[in-house]
Amino acid sequence: MTRLLFTLLVITLLTFLLGRFLGRFLYRRPAGSAARVDAGDALVQDPNCLTYLSKKGALEAKQGGVTHYFCGPACAEAFEKKKAGKESGGGK
Ligand SMILES: [Zn+2]
Repeated sequence: MTRLLFTLLVITLLTFLLGRFLGRFLYRRPAGSAARVDAGDALVQDPNCLTYLSKKGALEAKQGGVTHYFCGPACAEAFEKKKAGKESGGGK
């Protein structure tokens, strides 16, 4: 009876070790597959409609030394108008 228990224990241990050994192969990831953040692909926020978009596809507009990114010319225009309105009629 003790021998049977010992055999079972050895089998369990071997199964555990084999599982760990196989697991190292199964869970190994190829090098360089981790998510890379490309500087040109950074997310920027459209200050007019508050949509997040890729910097690559965004419309760039420099205003007073600050670069704003827009989803389209309509948003750039609307933002400029908003800003101009704030600046001229600010003393209300
Ligand atoms: Zn927009």
